[in-house]
Amino acid sequence: MNLESKNFIQNFIDEDLKNGKYPDGIKTRFPPEPNGYLHIGHAKSICLNFGLAQKYLGTCNLRFDDTNPSKEDVEFVDSIQDNIRWLGFDWEDRKFFASDYFEKLYNFAVELIKKNLAFVDDLSAEEIREYRGTLTEPGKESPHRNRSIEENLDLFKRMRDGEFADGSKVLRAKIDMASGNINMRDPIIYRIARVNHHRTGDQWCIYPMYDFAHPLSDAIEGISHSICTLEFEDHRPFYDWLLDSLDFDPKTRPRQIEFARLELTGIITSKRKLRQLVEENHVRGWDDPRMPTISGLKRRGYPPAAIRDFCERIGVAKSNSTVDIAMLEHCVRENLNQNAERVMAVLNPLKVVLTNLPENHCEYLEVDRLPNSNRGKRFVPFEREIFIEREDFMEDAPKKFFRLKPGGEVRLIGAYIIKCDEVIKDSNGEVIELHCSIDPTSKSGGETANRKIKGTILWVAASQAIRAEVRLYDRLLTTDNIPNDFLSAINPKSLVIIENALVEPSVKFSAEGTSYQFLRNGYFVVDPDSTVDRLVFNRIVGLRDSWKKIESKE
Ligand code: ATP
Ligand code: MG
Repeated sequence: MNLESKNFIQNFIDEDLKNGKYPDGIKTRFPPEPNGYLHIGHAKSICLNFGLAQKYLGTCNLRFDDTNPSKEDVEFVDSIQDNIRWLGFDWEDRKFFASDYFEKLYNFAVELIKKNLAFVDDLSAEEIREYRGTLTEPGKESPHRNRSIEENLDLFKRMRDGEFADGSKVLRAKIDMASGNINMRDPIIYRIARVNHHRTGDQWCIYPMYDFAHPLSDAIEGISHSICTLEFEDHRPFYDWLLDSLDFDPKTRPRQIEFARLELTGIITSKRKLRQLVEENHVRGWDDPRMPTISGLKRRGYPPAAIRDFCERIGVAKSNSTVDIAMLEHCVRENLNQNAERVMAVLNPLKVVLTNLPENHCEYLEVDRLPNSNRGKRFVPFEREIFIEREDFMEDAPKKFFRLKPGGEVRLIGAYIIKCDEVIKDSNGEVIELHCSIDPTSKSGGETANRKIKGTILWVAASQAIRAEVRLYDRLLTTDNIPNDFLSAINPKSLVIIENALVEPSVKFSAEGTSYQFLRNGYFVVDPDSTVDRLVFNRIVGLRDSWKKIESKE
């Protein structure tokens, strides 16, 4: 994939600039509706809109499309801002709300009425639906369509003044009931709804429809390119009709461009379904590390730079397709491989006593924090009692098992070669401890340092290791294609908690959000549930990269 190549949106922009359009420069916007938390699909839109502004030395506005007050809330307004900042973008002083424009929007509607391009309709919602026609049959004109301009102005004013019941009247654009495009069949532009708005309170009892508010908000802000997802393609004729009807200058008025939504295998990007997961407690909250919300990805430990990199690499498509989630994980792993310091942690500990060391033996081994970097060294204590990963020992081991077995030898990562002399069991026959001896000259720099040993295993020093809770995450859904009853596809093993993992002491005072590579076990991040006494780690991703395999097969 050529990262330098321009996407089709950039081609449109270049063409517009060449034709002398938008002399004031490129202005984009990210327009979330504050009715839920943002997810990975929104991250794509954020990177695209803010990214284009950066590439063209323009600006990108943050605009809350808050025209549907019944589902909206300040909690969402706040989380959306946090998420965008965390992703690394800045709207500076350009935070807007469609609700700031309610008065202006009202006046635009009045102007349409005066141009005989809008009318107040008394048909019920059901009648309007019946009159609309179908994809194959034209619609029928409303009997109220030919009201005089004066009557329409009067009725619309009285709608605003609260004279009519909710749903009893609407304002509609007057376009063409026979249009092949159903969106052009006299679409509703205002409705009566006595709903408290989280910003304007009870000031309004009529609210503009999205299709009316959006193009006008773009125009009010001087947006040049209004980038949205493909489902709005059929709405573009109305977007254009509205701005042309209100005499916005074609040289500077915004232009709508659609691109394909980002969908990922096995990832829910429906706000409704995400809300259901939270409200029915299938996850621990909007920021549960299994959630594809930006808050969830953050808590999971996905670096924002990896998400930006992913959005850049997948490019911008004109038709819908699904991206393999392994590609996102690949970007995360690539980033962490370069940035996450290495430590040793044993998830399922088995005690080992190194019998030829004295009781109070403690030496500090010096190891790189991050290989091939300038991060310097850390000191890892080495003692007579250590813990190894239980699965690194096997009593009746097959020939190909190169880790520890009775009588066998392995190298402890960064330390000595040890030999297993004795296996200690409890009364149930369960292995509880190993007695081993070290080869004292096998440490780096020692006489037998280069002695060939097939297996290398993890370890931590028993008295200094830190006990930590480790949360291992797997995909939330078991299938790549999300079934309609998606709850049935929830993976019962999507979260496995290890209560007492043992981690080397260098991690002791790590701040929340710090990520590490636990050698052999994957990448982990310090969760906000951590306390001074007890660290909690989330597994970000495992070490193995299935995407690399997919890529190299191609
Ligand atoms: P809805 O409008 O149904 O509440 P939405 O997901 O479209 O849900 P918005 O708040 O309207 O949510 O989205 C804000 C912006 O993000 C819009 O411009 C929208 O087109 C874009 N967006 C939403 N989902 C995706 C996605 N999966 N991929 C790319 N862009 C998306
Ligand atoms: Mg939307």
